[in-house]
Amino acid sequence: MQALDARADLLRHQRASLPELAEIATLQASRTDLDNRARDARITVDDLTVEQEKVDADVEAVKTRRRRDRDRMDQGLVTNPKDLERMGHELESLERRISSLEDEELEVMARLEDAQRDLDELVARVTEADHRLAELAAARDERLAVIDAELTSLEAERAPAVEGLPADLLALYGRLREQKGGIGAAELRQRRCTGCQLGIDNAEIAVIRAAPADDVIRCEECQRILVRTAESGL
Ligand SMILES: [Zn+2]
Repeated sequence: MQALDARADLLRHQRASLPELAEIATLQASRTDLDNRARDARITVDDLTVEQEKVDADVEAVKTRRRRDRDRMDQGLVTNPKDLERMGHELESLERRISSLEDEELEVMARLEDAQRDLDELVARVTEADHRLAELAAARDERLAVIDAELTSLEAERAPAVEGLPADLLALYGRLREQKGGIGAAELRQRRCTGCQLGIDNAEIAVIRAAPADDVIRCEECQRILVRTAESGL
């Protein structure tokens, strides 16, 4: 039973320290970071899109005004020389405004392109991380299934050994296993505790010899449960 328990401990340890678990934790942290950056990048793209639409609309509005002024002049609606002169100045100023707005438009477009590229890259990296996380989760689950199947079969193997043992003895054994590096019971062999390797003195051997077979005997040195066999030297 001790060997079964030791194997089960090892499996439980493996279960808690699967290599995938550390990688999943690291990757999840970096995915969260990427996702936050992607969200920021999306906000930048949205802001620049709004800005671009605004500049586009401004350009269109000024062009509309220029067209209207030109039409009025072409249709001969402006005849007064002073008005003509003023209209000429206004058209010049509209041209300058259009040119500066178009520069701004190009600059916003370039920034939007950069932001969109950043966003696309981040989204691709999040997708890649998700993909890898799914692979790791599948590998982890596969390992867990193997470990759990063995744990279940160990449990089944252990059941007949445990059956009929008093609950308080099992509890003591479990407690000792935790305290004594996984070994809760040790064979008494040739008057020696195989848990701590110390010899048992004659007086104690006499006590053990006199004890009923179902008494729980403990090593005085290491406190482990001593298992009596034909090799105990009693
Ligand atoms: Zn001992």
